[in-house]
Amino acid sequence: MSDADTTDDPGDLRTPIVAVLGHVDHGKTSLLDKIRGSAVIEGEAGAITQHIGATAVPLDTVSEVAGSLVDPTEFDLPGLLFIDTPGHHSFSTLRSRGGALADIAILVVDVNDGFQPQTEEAVRILKDTGTPFVVAANKVDTTPGWNPNPDSPIQQTYEAQSDRARSDLDEALYELIGEMSDHGFSSDLYWRVQNFQKNVGVIPVSAETGEGVPDLLTVLMGLAQRYMKAEMEVDVAGPGAGTVLEVKDEQGFGKTVDVILYDGTVRSGDTVVVGAQNDPIVTEVRALLKPRELAEIRTEKRFDDVDSMQAAAGLKIAAPDLDDAMPGAPVRVVGDRSVEEVVAEVEAELAEVAVETEEEG
Ligand code: GDP
Repeated sequence: MSDADTTDDPGDLRTPIVAVLGHVDHGKTSLLDKIRGSAVIEGEAGAITQHIGATAVPLDTVSEVAGSLVDPTEFDLPGLLFIDTPGHHSFSTLRSRGGALADIAILVVDVNDGFQPQTEEAVRILKDTGTPFVVAANKVDTTPGWNPNPDSPIQQTYEAQSDRARSDLDEALYELIGEMSDHGFSSDLYWRVQNFQKNVGVIPVSAETGEGVPDLLTVLMGLAQRYMKAEMEVDVAGPGAGTVLEVKDEQGFGKTVDVILYDGTVRSGDTVVVGAQNDPIVTEVRALLKPRELAEIRTEKRFDDVDSMQAAAGLKIAAPDLDDAMPGAPVRVVGDRSVEEVVAEVEAELAEVAVETEEEG
């Protein structure tokens, strides 16, 4: 995230938001856990930050995990923000004003199992929303005779396998590339892809052993940097815009909303408009909450109060009158605009989400 002293610069770059999709049991949760775990081990303590509903992996940590695959001087995006709730259901209900809330997605496919119904649904949603994605061909460690090299880049461990294991894996990967083609996507092993706008990169990985995870982070970072930099140029000091992940009761706060902030800043005391079942809610932020650091978790307090948060981030907003707030609905800081204008904006967006949900249903 940018330093406070750079927030006056309207050209600030925000963190790209990453979502994980795929069929049940193909390894979405394990892969997210592995990314978080390797980032904690490799990075400085506290280098990865747990947000509400999301995990931020800063560029320094990406480059430590990726080792020789990443030269951090090639990047100026601050890192990657992973949405913690995997699955296409959360993906398709989470919108931003541009379309999908996530800027980029990982489609997890069990390399032995190939395309399954939820994989098909996920690619359809990715296509409809025009979300760039990579395929994580997961569970490569289950290839018969596989000799794991934990956390190593995929080509290194691939070279170290027996001919038999390599050819078994090749076969599974080519089948997967064929299935991608049947679904209208030209794809190839990522190191053969020249133009990621035309071809989807397939990254063989194991969420179990961490093999290929350095490659996955490298490719995500590279894609974001090369093709999304313009979209990441937001006015981070401007009025915040986000999407409700969940509406939750919290002891001492009443109803709260967990929000992924994708633009601007939200401050304690800000007037915000939140999409709801009926009319949008106009309320004032009473507290902005983020998870406590692990070391302090023994105390009763689970959250830290902060004065402000900048995109991209996951945070909890405590405010009066949030009972009717709706997951998937927009949240907007009013800022200098009139409340009516912002309410109208939120209503228009809600109407759009409702139409799209019906089309999908
Ligand atoms: P999800 O439903 O997509 O979130 O899948 P999970 O992450 O819960 O994984 C389903 C099962 O597959 C669990 O038992 C995992 O331990 C296992 N699994 C996930 N990834 C791998 C992998 O790369 N290798 C192996 N051997 N098992 C895996």
